[in-house]
Amino acid sequence: MDSKKPIPLLDLTRQDPELNREIARRVAEVFATGRFVMGPANEEFERAFAAEVGSAHAIGVSSGTDALLVALMALGVGPGDEVITSPFTFFASAGEVSRLKARTVFVDIEPGTFNLDPTRLEAAVTARTKAIEPVHVYGQCADMRPILEIAQRRGIPVVEDACQAIGAADQGRAAGTLGAMAAFSFYPTKNLGGAGDAGAVTTDDAGTARLLRSLRMHGETERYHHARVGGNFRMDAIQAAVLLAKLPYLKAWNERRRAIAARYGERLSETALAGRLTLPPEAPGRRHVYHQYVVRVPDRDGVRERMTARGIATAVFYPVPLHRQECFVDLGYREGDFPEAEKAAREVLALPIFAALTDDEVDRVAEALISALPD
Ligand SMILES: *Cc1c(COP(=O)(O)O)cnc(C)c1O
Repeated sequence: MDSKKPIPLLDLTRQDPELNREIARRVAEVFATGRFVMGPANEEFERAFAAEVGSAHAIGVSSGTDALLVALMALGVGPGDEVITSPFTFFASAGEVSRLKARTVFVDIEPGTFNLDPTRLEAAVTARTKAIEPVHVYGQCADMRPILEIAQRRGIPVVEDACQAIGAADQGRAAGTLGAMAAFSFYPTKNLGGAGDAGAVTTDDAGTARLLRSLRMHGETERYHHARVGGNFRMDAIQAAVLLAKLPYLKAWNERRRAIAARYGERLSETALAGRLTLPPEAPGRRHVYHQYVVRVPDRDGVRERMTARGIATAVFYPVPLHRQECFVDLGYREGDFPEAEKAAREVLALPIFAALTDDEVDRVAEALISALPD
């Protein structure tokens, strides 16, 4: 029976045949030019992506991780510096700080949105704070107004980790335009995904854009002249070609994700009202693009097992908060330091969400979740 088919968390093979033809056409164009690195497709993508975000400049790079790394390098982050971020995020948000021999300072999250709690931010600022890096986790912006207010008052640049948040907005302002720079990822599972690794940094400042372009090319200012040490953080032309083909679909895909989230909300609202699970709220004035649809449930691992037994895939982002990672023991944090992040790590469950997921599948996921909950 069709209705018993397993439901994946994400299925990247369900792609519009017309889009596949457009991708093939654009990739063939790259082969025709023979420019596989920094070719015309890259320039075209950077212009199109900057326009999509509403930023003056976009600099294509090799991944979201490298986008964060070059953004922090552009600020001169190094030994003795501190960078403030959330402990409840993908590893790279803090890993790149360590790669620059600087120190990550974590600030606990708001339980509702899972994002850095601005009311706890100022207490974490010191004379060594070189950057504040809010993460728009799951596709919903952090509460940027108070974060930017504190950053401005203290003279500290903000780097958005917008890797999950292309198309999201806070008070009508788009993710990627809110700070001095923003990092985006085009990892295949992201809302705009390439056919491999790729990323971008956005900025409104022309000087910063020039610096970022230099840093991704080994710090070159002109060919074989290096004003600084950078790295090879360039984006492949084939990724630019794939992303150019997909970019026109992004708005509709994000709308579909929002419609799926609304449908989950309807199907699960009674159970949520009865206090048996917690739905992800869209905070007032924020536009959520649901990179993930994440509920909180009691007995999370048991719920997950029971759903798996019914053929419904789920995931846990993130089971270990970053201050509890083995590689960060030197930071000196302990269990109990960030209780909201620790509680979230025990309770969160991500449900299937992607543009090609059908309404029928959404309903089956919701039913399976309700019946998997403890009484
Ligand atoms: C995906 C992601 C990254 C890293 O992006 P990659 O392209 O995988 O290197 C960084 N931060 C967050 C929040 C992410 O979700």
